[in-house]
Amino acid sequence: MVGAIKSLTDLRRIEAAVRVTCKKCGHVRMIDREVLIKHCSFHRSSLDWEDVRAGLWCWRSGCLSRNTHVEALPFSQDEVALRHKRAETILMNLALRVLKDAAYRPNSEAMATTDVRLALRVLYPYMGSRDTLTRYWDIAVSSRFHAWQNCHNEFAVIAATLVDRGYAVDADFR
Ligand SMILES: [Zn+2]
Repeated sequence: MVGAIKSLTDLRRIEAAVRVTCKKCGHVRMIDREVLIKHCSFHRSSLDWEDVRAGLWCWRSGCLSRNTHVEALPFSQDEVALRHKRAETILMNLALRVLKDAAYRPNSEAMATTDVRLALRVLYPYMGSRDTLTRYWDIAVSSRFHAWQNCHNEFAVIAATLVDRGYAVDADFR
C-alpha cells in the first residue's frame, strides 16, 4: 500500500505519478511527479501533499472545476523496470556514439579525451570485463602516427560484446 503521504516528495519513495480526476466533468489527467515538484519549488509553493491536492484543478478548458479527486498512483514494478531499462539503453547507446566518433578522429586529433574516458566508464557495467575497454583506452593514449593505429577493431568488439550480452545496441553500431 501507499502509506501515509505527507509531502509531494514522498511520491519518489513509492515511484508514483499523480492522477487528477475531475468530479464535475470526469476528465482525467496524469501528472509527472518530478514536473510537479519542480513546478512547486519554482513557484515556492507548498510541497505538502494536502496543499498540492487542493491546488490541482481540472485542466479541461470549459470546465476548470476545483472539485477534483487527486491521488498518488504508484507505478507497477514492471513499469519501473521498463523505465529503468529504457534509460539504460539510451545511456549505453550514447556512450557507444562517443566511442565510435572518437575511433574515427584523424590521427592529428587527441583521442584520450574526457568524453571518451566517461563513455568507457559508462560501458564497464554492461561489458562484464574490462579488457576491451582497457585496450581501447591504451590505444587512445598512445601516440598514433599511422592510419592503422586506431580503435576501429576495439569499438567493433565492444559493440559485438554488448549485442551478445543481449543489450539493445543501435543498428548504427552493429
Ligand atoms: Zn472538469
